[in-house]
Amino acid sequence: MEKIKMTTPLVEMDGDEMTRILWQMIKDELLLPFIDLRTEYYDLGLKHRDETNDQVTYESAHANKRYGVAVKCATITPNAARVEEYDLKEMWKSPNGTIRAILDGTVFRAPIVVKGIEPCVKNWKKPITIARHAYGDVYKASEIRVPGPGKAELVYTAEDGTEIREMIAAFKGPGVLQGMHNLDKSIESFARSCFNYALDQKQDLWFSTKDTISKKYDHTFKDIFQEIYEKEYKQRFEEAGITYFYTLIDDAVARIMKSEGGMIWACKNYDGDVMSDMISSAFGSLAMMTSVLVSPVGNFEYEAAHGTVQRHYYKHLKGEETSTNSVATIFAWTGALRKRGELDGLKDLMSFADKLEKATIQTIEEGKMTKDLALITTIENPTVLNSKDFILAIRENLEKMM
Ligand code: NAP
Ligand code: MG
Repeated sequence: MEKIKMTTPLVEMDGDEMTRILWQMIKDELLLPFIDLRTEYYDLGLKHRDETNDQVTYESAHANKRYGVAVKCATITPNAARVEEYDLKEMWKSPNGTIRAILDGTVFRAPIVVKGIEPCVKNWKKPITIARHAYGDVYKASEIRVPGPGKAELVYTAEDGTEIREMIAAFKGPGVLQGMHNLDKSIESFARSCFNYALDQKQDLWFSTKDTISKKYDHTFKDIFQEIYEKEYKQRFEEAGITYFYTLIDDAVARIMKSEGGMIWACKNYDGDVMSDMISSAFGSLAMMTSVLVSPVGNFEYEAAHGTVQRHYYKHLKGEETSTNSVATIFAWTGALRKRGELDGLKDLMSFADKLEKATIQTIEEGKMTKDLALITTIENPTVLNSKDFILAIRENLEKMM
C-alpha cells in the first residue's frame, strides 16, 4: 500500500513521562505505517527544555505560527519537586502558558463520545465544547489580606497623571481585597477565536458572564462579543445556519443541564476552568477529551487535556504493565492531521484522520479498552488491555478500513 502524502510539515512538540511513551507508540503503530509523516520536531521533554534554557518551547510556538498547525504531547510543568528530580537550572514556566502567550488564543475542549461510556446527564446526546478564555481575571490578580480598619480604593493613573478612583470598602476590621483586570485586545481575540471555531465546527455558540452584577467588567465582555458579532460574523453565522446566543451564566448553567448538548459554550477564564472539569467528568474522563488552542489569526495547536500520567510512568520504569488511555493523544494527532489536510487540500489525509478516530471509537465499543474506561463503562465484561495492546487493537481495526 502506498503511504499517504503530506505537503507541509506538522509542528511536532514531544513531551514527558507516560505520554511521551504513548506518543512514540502512536507514531510507530498508527501513523508511520500509513502516512509519509512530515513533521518539524521539537523536543519539549523537560530535560531538553532545561538544556536549551526553555528556548525550544519558544521556538516551537513560533514554528506553530509559521506553519499554522501543531500537535503537542503533555509536558511537565515544573514545581520544586521536579526541579530536584531533573536537577533543573530553573523552575521553567508552564509550556502551555508560554505557547498560549505567543499564539494568544482560546482553548476549546470537547468530550469524545463513545457508546458504552455514557454521560451522567441523561439528556446530553451530543458533546458540549467549552471555549475558555486563557488570559487575565483572577489568574493575574493582586490580593491583599487586610489586617484591620482602613479604607480601600481602586486607583487608575493615566500616563498624564490624571486619576480615576473608585471606593471599594471602608473596613471596620480585617478582611480581604482583590484587584484583577483584562484587556480589550485579549477579549476581542477571545471573541474572534470563538466565532471562527463555531463556523469551523458548524455549531451554535453560547456566551455567558455575570453582566447584571458586574456592570462594567463583565458587561464589557458582553459588549465586545456583540459588537464583533454584528460587524464581522452575523451574516456568516446566518449562512452557516448557526446562532450566537448571549445569556447570564446562571441561566446558561440551567439551560445546559436541560439541553441535548452540541453547542460551544464560551466562558471567562475562571468559569471555563470550573465548567470544563464539570463537563469532562460528566462525560467520562479527561482522557476522553479533545483539546485545541485556536489563535485569532487561525493557528491551531492540538493536545491532550490530561497531564503526563506520572504514576503510570513510574510503574512503566519499574517494568510493570500499564494501562494508560491514549485516546486523547491519538485525537490530538488526528485533529492536527485533519486540519493540515484541510489547509493543504489533501483529502486522503483528512480521510485517514477520520478512519483513525473511527477505529479508536470502534475498538472501545467492541469492549476493548484501558482500565480507566473499564471502570466506568456500561459494556459488560470489557477486555482490559495494556497501553500497547490497546493501540495494537486500534491498529487492527484501522488496517481493515484502509
Ligand atoms: P495527570 O497526568 O492528568 O494524571 C492524573 C491522574 O488521572 C492519573 O494518575 C490517572 O489516574 C488519571 N489519568 C490521567 N490521564 C490518564 C490517561 N490518559 N489514562 C489513564 N489515566 C489517566 O495529572 P497529574 O498527575 O496531576 O500531573 C502529572 C504531570 O502532568 C504534572 O507534572 C503536570 O505538570 C503535568 N500536566 C501537563 C498538562 C499538559 O501538558 N497539558 C496538563 C496537566 C498536567 P490513576 O493514577 O488513578 O490511574
Ligand atoms: Mg481546573
